[in-house]
Amino acid sequence: MSWQLRAGLLVIPLVGSLIAGCSIPGHEAKPPAVPGSPGTTAPSARLTQPTESGASGQPPGQVTPAPPGRPVTPPAGAPEPASPPLPRPVAVGTGANPRVTPIPDPVWASMQGKSWTPGCVPRQRLRYLTVNYWGFDGYRYRGELVVAAAVAADAAAILSDLYAQRYPIRQMVLPDAFGANPKGIGADDYAQMAADNTSAFNCRYVVGREAQHVLSLHALGRAIDVNTWENPYVAPTGRYPDTWYLDHRPTASPAVLVAGDPAVRAFTRRGWTWGGTWTEKDWQHFQH
Ligand SMILES: [Zn+2]
Repeated sequence: MSWQLRAGLLVIPLVGSLIAGCSIPGHEAKPPAVPGSPGTTAPSARLTQPTESGASGQPPGQVTPAPPGRPVTPPAGAPEPASPPLPRPVAVGTGANPRVTPIPDPVWASMQGKSWTPGCVPRQRLRYLTVNYWGFDGYRYRGELVVAAAVAADAAAILSDLYAQRYPIRQMVLPDAFGANPKGIGADDYAQMAADNTSAFNCRYVVGREAQHVLSLHALGRAIDVNTWENPYVAPTGRYPDTWYLDHRPTASPAVLVAGDPAVRAFTRRGWTWGGTWTEKDWQHFQH
């Protein structure tokens, strides 16, 4: 969750309203509704979404109760996020089917006062990426990310690789669904980490360094956090969002990112840096 912009760019003046306190908030997610979120994962929707050719093993045209992908079984003793995933749209089309567009008006409106505030990177330098992914339940969903225009094509290719690898992702909704960060600018990163949300742009300070106003590369849309629950962040001020997966890594969970994994290589072979190589581990974090 963390890496900061380097020298000179680290600190931006931001209007009033910053909370000086540095206490660590709770880890509860804020699950309520995602305004404008299209579709749900209701069983009827799940059963009718397209499946990969032959993946279900069922005769053509027959509705199958089994997921087309392989569900994730948590390692023995592993805690789960306190809240289930938010409503997730089902997949669109076949394969990863990535699509990069300017930020649509409704999305832009939902970002205001949360992942975007005045003074942050202009809308024109951001893009809206939608892409299919494999959920932990073995079903296909449609994820959404806001990223820098400069890395949007890269991000689409990386997420397409993860799809092809069948790398599971718990959920991929915009961080605005978790409300505003009570500790400073940005959407509530503590809440979305605790909810295991995969996300990118969030104009916020580095977790644990809010009082110093140290901006994260997420503030430029040049960083992506992946499966935050299984891939925690070790900050000088604490370990987020939970410690179990720090004390039990690597584990058998396919969501845990390990050096040399195809999922990690999908990023690094395109020149992205992985926080799992840093002294202060940020296992969930990739940046470019
Ligand atoms: Zn990060």
